[in-house]
Amino acid sequence: MEPMAWVDGQLVPLSAATHSMFDHVTSYGSSVFEGIRAYDELTPDGQPTGRRNVWLLREHIARWRRSAAAYRMTYSYTDDELVAAVLDVLAHNEGQNYIRPVVFRGDGLGVDPTNVPVRVAIGTVTWGKYVSKHLHHDGASALVTSLIRPPTRMFPGFAKGAPGYGAWSQLAKLEANAAECSEGLLQGEDEKGNRYIVDGSGMNLGIVQSGLIYMPNPEQWNILGGLTADWLMHGTIGTDRILVIDRAPTLPDLLGSDEVFLTGTATEVTPVTLVKYRIAEDTLVPQEIGNGHAGPVTIKLAATLQRGSRGQSLVYQKYLTRIPQLTSQGSGSEVRRTSSI
Ligand code: PMP
Repeated sequence: MEPMAWVDGQLVPLSAATHSMFDHVTSYGSSVFEGIRAYDELTPDGQPTGRRNVWLLREHIARWRRSAAAYRMTYSYTDDELVAAVLDVLAHNEGQNYIRPVVFRGDGLGVDPTNVPVRVAIGTVTWGKYVSKHLHHDGASALVTSLIRPPTRMFPGFAKGAPGYGAWSQLAKLEANAAECSEGLLQGEDEKGNRYIVDGSGMNLGIVQSGLIYMPNPEQWNILGGLTADWLMHGTIGTDRILVIDRAPTLPDLLGSDEVFLTGTATEVTPVTLVKYRIAEDTLVPQEIGNGHAGPVTIKLAATLQRGSRGQSLVYQKYLTRIPQLTSQGSGSEVRRTSSI
């Protein structure tokens, strides 16, 4: 069965979900997107239940709209319709676990987007561990790249838009690849020109010092506010609850941390066990974080996210949306169809 995609209100075979080189997005990067994960549900003791859920679906759909608004791309679908559309695509693409919704400007040459159609599409793929190359022991390696995030007055950093990934994230990732690191860290600059480490190419950053967790504040540093980090900070309860101090590490802070971790939808919670930084154009210094292994706070955060997203904690069920099953392949779907508008 060919995978399906949802394009402008219709389910279509994935191979038909193409766009043109003359689409506005191709030249001008006019798109905003989301990355969402679906998981097989587990019982509290780790047995598969046979059900599948999407993690933080409504939260992602809401951010997608805020991102689109930042670039003045408006669409007529409601969040409920888009939630139903994601579930519809997943129900047709059995086993796929990563969802990529995209809003983009379609057919139209010339910068002016005024009469260019805004298009909405949702596709899914199977995606395993996001951080998987150049690992160090049981964690990732991260390069402190030369890339500097722009301040709020210059760029809508809260929006998950293609422009930010083209201008900063991709270049950071290429620097990391060249340095044989799993990920690239980006910097931010305060008004005096002091540098801080603010996030990763596609994930948020946290450090642990003496048991306290510090993360750069998204508004202050004009970086994407991660839904995963938000959930860890504000969605958890009881002994899962964590307190995060809003502070971006300097390079010495980062290197002196007991633990460093990355977090995001694709990344989940990934320990950073080795950091590389540049002391001259051609001199990279590698340094282990702590004892070079994943630390207890990071391990606990990863376990909390795992239990929540796999449906193993009753109290976190409200962050999960069940993926309906098709009654029979191709017809008699019990999935609510979204009308095309
Ligand atoms: N920062 C950046 C630059 C990202 O691309 C992502 C992934 N969306 C994140 C942070 C983490 O966000 P979330 O937890 O919502 O996936």
